[in-house]
Amino acid sequence: MPFTALLVEKAEDGAISQKLTTLDVDRLPEGEVLIDVEYSTLNYKDGLCLTGAGGLVRNFPHVPGIDYAGTVAESSDARYKPGDKVVLTGWRVGEVVWGGYAQKARAKADWLVPLPGGLTTRQAMAIGTAGLTSMLAVTALEAHGLRPGNGPVLVTGAAGGVGSVAVAILAHLGYEVAAVTGRPETEDYLRGLGATRIVPREDLADAPTRPLDKETWTGCVDAVGGTMLARVLTQMKYGGSVAAVGLAGGAKLPATVVPFLLRGVNILGIDSVMQPYEARLAAWRRLSTDLPLEKLDAMVEEAKLADLPELGAAILKGGVKGRVVVDVK
Ligand code: NDP
Repeated sequence: MPFTALLVEKAEDGAISQKLTTLDVDRLPEGEVLIDVEYSTLNYKDGLCLTGAGGLVRNFPHVPGIDYAGTVAESSDARYKPGDKVVLTGWRVGEVVWGGYAQKARAKADWLVPLPGGLTTRQAMAIGTAGLTSMLAVTALEAHGLRPGNGPVLVTGAAGGVGSVAVAILAHLGYEVAAVTGRPETEDYLRGLGATRIVPREDLADAPTRPLDKETWTGCVDAVGGTMLARVLTQMKYGGSVAAVGLAGGAKLPATVVPFLLRGVNILGIDSVMQPYEARLAAWRRLSTDLPLEKLDAMVEEAKLADLPELGAAILKGGVKGRVVVDVK
């Protein structure tokens, strides 16, 4: 049963290339469930896997795509039957296991989540790993006391995938959202998602020069890390929490412990890859209710498999706005 896939190859001189090709299902990895993939998406990590950056992909040739949604074609696991709609994110699929940039994929049943009621496979991938992670971040902030009405919540990397979904969810839940962006041209877009304040990236770009700054933010969803996260920590209100999600601006944290000791500030680490099934299911269910679909539509750009090499390079440079949905059918 041949199908189309985007294959990433590594030449003997180390050069990475991508090509659309036809494969047979017996090339797919092991797993109990064969899926007809309908949509995949583009996340920052996909940019790394498409271009070979960061050393995430060790074995070539490789099919990237860290998330996908589609219909079960075959299953030897009692939890799934042909015709069921499913979503996959995480478990290092698309990094160490072949992923969603193909019309067929095989997965372990444990990795799948049934498509939450009310969402289409396209909507599920408009949300994707980025959106799931935003929901996990908001849930973690709430579990640490975040409530609407207590002050502004900051979202860094706001015009990116994680940031866009976080802005929309927080605004829908009644929070006052301040959006940090390095792209002033996205202001209308971010206000449309519900941000009431735009913070230019340069305001938070430099490492902090003092351990505490004016108490400003009651919570933060941080997709950027690095010096920006260090700076944000100095501006958190007493008892406030930062959900540390990403490192689009760097992995080093040039911070002091003073905000933790004198203001009881918390950093909450957010990982979407190894989340247990129940937490995934709960996050997907919340996404189907707490993320307004018209806002989701405003974030989405549609692409084909052939567009991905160019888009993969663009997302690593912070050049992709919102969410890219990949129609692989
Ligand atoms: P995007 O590229 O879509 O978004 C990142 C955004 O960060 C950009 O759009 C840009 O926003 C901002 N940005 C980029 N470079 C810089 C920089 N040098 N300094 C400051 N801001 C910058 O990526 P995603 O939303 O897919 O992912 C965001 C991060 O979250 C990545 O690091 C990714 O690896 C991580 N992630 C982590 C997950 C987890 O499980 N912990 C899951 C998913 C993602 P703007 O233009 O508005 O300034």
